[in-house]
Amino acid sequence: MPGMLLSLLIGLIAGALLFSSAEPQPQSSSPAALLPLVPASEAPAPTQELPGAQAPSPAPDCTAAPGGAVTLPSPLITVSVNGSPVEMKLEDYLIGVVAGEMSASSEPAALKAQAVAARTFTALHMQGRASCKSGCTVCDDPGCCQAYKSPDELPALWGEKYSEYMENIRSAVEGTEGLVAIYDGKLISALYHASSGPATESSEEVFAVALPYLVSVDSREGNSEMVTKQEFSAADLVRRINAAYPEANMSLPLTPGDLDVWGRTESGRVQLIRIGETVIPGGALRKVLGLKSTAFEVKKEGSAVIFTCLGYGHGVGMSQTGANQMAKEGADFEEILKHFYTGTELASLEFTEPGE
Ligand SMILES: [Zn+2]
Repeated sequence: MPGMLLSLLIGLIAGALLFSSAEPQPQSSSPAALLPLVPASEAPAPTQELPGAQAPSPAPDCTAAPGGAVTLPSPLITVSVNGSPVEMKLEDYLIGVVAGEMSASSEPAALKAQAVAARTFTALHMQGRASCKSGCTVCDDPGCCQAYKSPDELPALWGEKYSEYMENIRSAVEGTEGLVAIYDGKLISALYHASSGPATESSEEVFAVALPYLVSVDSREGNSEMVTKQEFSAADLVRRINAAYPEANMSLPLTPGDLDVWGRTESGRVQLIRIGETVIPGGALRKVLGLKSTAFEVKKEGSAVIFTCLGYGHGVGMSQTGANQMAKEGADFEEILKHFYTGTELASLEFTEPGE
């Protein structure tokens, strides 16, 4: 037992040191790694209906953002698309991100909030305060950066809804052109995820760095909250866990202590869980088993082990499902952003080069 606690402590301290001086970064290679920075939402497939009318592009909602301006050299970025670098303008890239990250039939204010979050996330990379594993400004891997759909993918993706959905996405991006979220005058690390369940998670619970604007807030997801049951045979579960954590030394049949939640965070997510003879963070078990979230309950039924997960994603920052629900209740995009990113305000991006 002391050895187990010692190794756990060392792991937690190493995690804290790793992230003490930097923004949250994705760690995707080690079994004990932290969760991906921004998982793609699984946007529901659009239903096939008649295309809607094409409306003219709206003017930006804010011409003078209260937070002032954030200056970058150029609006041009390099995006790694299917492994190849493609140069494009930030605003054009954002069309593909919002299309890739959210259902195009989402509420207009939620799509706008998503556009600002995606723009802020990208601008942080353009500033060099966050980096992409590809070496480009950003990439199309949602486990590293953000999902991205190129313009030639969208007609097949949306079918008869193409015109309507493209108009929805364009309105969101063009209606918030240049707007980013800042805290204390600086671009924020605008994390977001598909669904949080009843409350979002504080950043330090997932990324071992406490950011004042990424604290747990309620998320009214109502009937839209994603609840997923994931079932494993006991044998498969033991094999997976022992492969990633040999020190767990799990064996069949499972005993009650083999999967024992040791602690939950304030928002109800599993902080620590005992697996056999060791204890690991809930996020580490989520990665090993591919669980939708760490807000899970686990129970054994015969030779099966069932995880019931609330929400989908790391739970930090803006919940896309919660944003959509707020929009349905009348919130505008700025209210949504300020709800999920505590104490932030909007600012405008400015560029010293035209980027033509
Ligand atoms: Zn990347």
